[in-house]
Order: sequence, then C-alpha cells, then structure tokens
Amino acid sequence: MHFRSLVLSPIFLLLAACQSTGADRSPPPQATAPAAAPEQTAPSAGTTGITTPSGATAAPTSPATPPFDDWVSRLKVDALAAGVTAATFDRAFQGVVPDPDILAKDSAQPEYTRPVWAYLDTAVSSANVAAGQTALKGNAKTLTEATRPYGVDPHIVVAIWGIESLFGKNPGDDNVISALATLAWGSRRPDVFRQNLIDALLILQAGDIDAADMRGSWAGAMGQTQFMPAAFRKYAVDGDHDGKRDIWNSLPDVFASTANYLKAFGWKTGEPWGAEVKLPKKFDWDLAEIDTTKTVAEWSAMGVRLVHGGKLPRVASAASIIAPAGHRGPVFIVFQNFRTLLAYNNSISYALAVAHLADRIGGGGEFVAQWPRDEPPMSLTDKQDLQNRLAAHGLDPGEVDGVIGPKTRIAIRQFQREIGEVPDGFATLVLLNKLRAAKSS
Ligand code: CA
Repeated sequence: MHFRSLVLSPIFLLLAACQSTGADRSPPPQATAPAAAPEQTAPSAGTTGITTPSGATAAPTSPATPPFDDWVSRLKVDALAAGVTAATFDRAFQGVVPDPDILAKDSAQPEYTRPVWAYLDTAVSSANVAAGQTALKGNAKTLTEATRPYGVDPHIVVAIWGIESLFGKNPGDDNVISALATLAWGSRRPDVFRQNLIDALLILQAGDIDAADMRGSWAGAMGQTQFMPAAFRKYAVDGDHDGKRDIWNSLPDVFASTANYLKAFGWKTGEPWGAEVKLPKKFDWDLAEIDTTKTVAEWSAMGVRLVHGGKLPRVASAASIIAPAGHRGPVFIVFQNFRTLLAYNNSISYALAVAHLADRIGGGGEFVAQWPRDEPPMSLTDKQDLQNRLAAHGLDPGEVDGVIGPKTRIAIRQFQREIGEVPDGFATLVLLNKLRAAKSS
C-alpha cells in the first residue's frame, strides 16, 4: 500500500497514492505503507549522521536524533516491556544499521506525481490483467476456500495481490526490522514506524516468521499483500492452519489475511464496488466528493445513470459520486466496498486500480469515458501556486501543501463558477493560468 504520494507498498501508515482523498481529514488505518508525504522537505545532513559499512552516511532528519546505538538501547527497554524477550530482540537487531537509501526514499519529495490515468495504465495494464486471470485460475480452489469465510470477492483479493506484489513476484526484499528501525530512528514521523517496529518484534516473538525471512518494502510493508506489522498483528490469519501466519510464503494465509482485513473494514458481501456513470446535464458538482453520500435512489432521482444509460444497480450501502479527473474524465458511483479499499490504502487512484483490475480479471471492459490525457502535468510547485493564488483571490484552499484535497477543490469550484466553467474542482494548469490572469480580490 502507499501513502499520499506514489510509492508502492501497504498497511498502516498515513499517506495514500497519487490522487489523495484529501489532506483535510485523518486517514483510516492502512494495511499498506506510505511513501513520502508531499509536504515533507528534504532532510538536512546533520552532524549526528552515522557511517554505515557501505560508507554512505545515514543522516537522521532531526539534529536532536540520538546516535543509533543509544536509540536501540532505549527501544529495547520498551520492546521488553511490550513482551519481546531479550533473545528475540538481540537476534532481530543483529547487524542492523540505519540504511541511508531508505531515509533518502522517505524524504524524497517528487516534483511530479502521476495522474490517475497514468497510475491505472501501469496497475491495470493488459499484462497485469492477463497475469491476474492466470493467477485466479491457477489458485481458484485456494482463493475460494480462503475468502469464503469472509464473504469477500476473490477477484478483489487477486487484484490487491497483483498491485501489492505482482501476484507474489515482488513482495520487497528489505529486512523489515532494519527498514523500520531506520525510519523510527531517523525519519520525520518516527512514531508510526516505532510502533510498527515493536509490532514487528512481537510478530517475531510469536514465531510467525524468522527475523531473516521477515522481508518487505523499504517502508516496512510485509509479504505478498504488504501488511504493515501493526495491521498484521490485528488482521493476519492462519489460512492453512499450520500454526503460523505466513503472508510471505503461504497463499492460503495471504488470501485469508487480505479477506479478513477487508471484512474488518466493512466489506459488503455481494455488493459491487461501484460503476461508471453518466451525470445529468445539470449536476451539482459540490456533491462529487467521496465523503458526500446518498442512497442510490437519491442519485437516481437526480438523473445519475450508468454510463450506457441504464439504471443504477440496487445497492443498499451509501453511495458517492467521484470524478477523479474532473468532468472531462470518467465519473463513478462508488459504494461501501470502495470505501473498504480506501481503508487498505487511502488513495482514490489505488482503490480505483484494485476495483478496475478485479473487474478486468473477471472479463469486464475498460472504462467508457476517456481520461483527459491532454492535460499537461502539474508539478508540486504549480499546485502550491494554485493554492496561493486561490487564497490571494479571497478563497480558502486550506493548507498550502500542494495536495488538492476537499478544501482546495471547494475553492477551485468557486473560482470555476466565477469564470463560467464547469465547477468540477479539478486542478489543471489551464485553470492556474486563468487564476494568474485574474485580478486579486
Ligand atoms: Ca499458516
């Protein structure tokens, strides 16, 4: 799973992929790990940096960070208090030193993030669809048995498996203890990593996996569906009943754990995730937000139809309308199961990728509406400029962080109405240029 920007990984951190659902609300728990937050700046090279065996310097992001060895000694006290034995701790930390590459990745602040269509092009490529169909067929019995107790659609579990680790081919090869220790010691948001590190030690203590085999992404997301340790402790299950929860090597465990996580976050058996829709000519674009919910009947009464014109499916759970690339791109109605996917990774792009890959693996077609691929990419600087200029125009875009969240979208809509454009809240370079030309209020 990912955090707010763009990296691949899974379960308990705070950032989501490209198209964030918004910076204005706290994210739900995440199965998967985060990439660097866009608002983070590059770390300063502090004098407390330590030299690793490779000769590279791992510099913590705060000059107040203690030397690594001192930090490990203090961590050990807390780990022992949490129930980790000294033997487990010492074995896990054998040879562990901060990894400068991981700190660099964590503090990286990409100037460009991929638009939703570019993310989908990769995640739902025809190669991934074909690989997913093969994976579904080859593991049909295991998948059915593992997901049935949770009532979760096997297609969704396969899609998550594909996006998180390329169907088990790429689960990450970083030592999880080493990665999390590096981040808990030297990153700018050490607390979430520290708790996950203690959880990782408790997983070792429980005997689910050996320290040497506890591998994952650089951000600590583990195994074939990339659970962060905190999520693992709560939601991983022993699908093959061998006494171990092994999401690295046992497919029954991988599938059952993923299904269990989804069920715990509200999966509704038998409901679709959503569908592509067509909006009526006169639509109140303020309503196109993931946090705005209505019943299917209410959306129907407003004139929302399936993209080919049919009636919306009868789905009991609350429904939202989302337009991830504005009125020029595909628009969707989404139900509870889409929200459940956001609990795995709080990113509209991610949830849409999982949902669409699952549909495509099941034989479904591509989206009908085209993405606005001709929109020039906006850099982080452009997005911050947009927010600054909205504020200068007398509107309230929220924090100037380069993240186009709900508050920024409200301000964009107000400006779009002012200049007679479709108020879809979608940030574009063209709109920024119009703001640049507009008189400040
Ligand atoms: Ca097992």
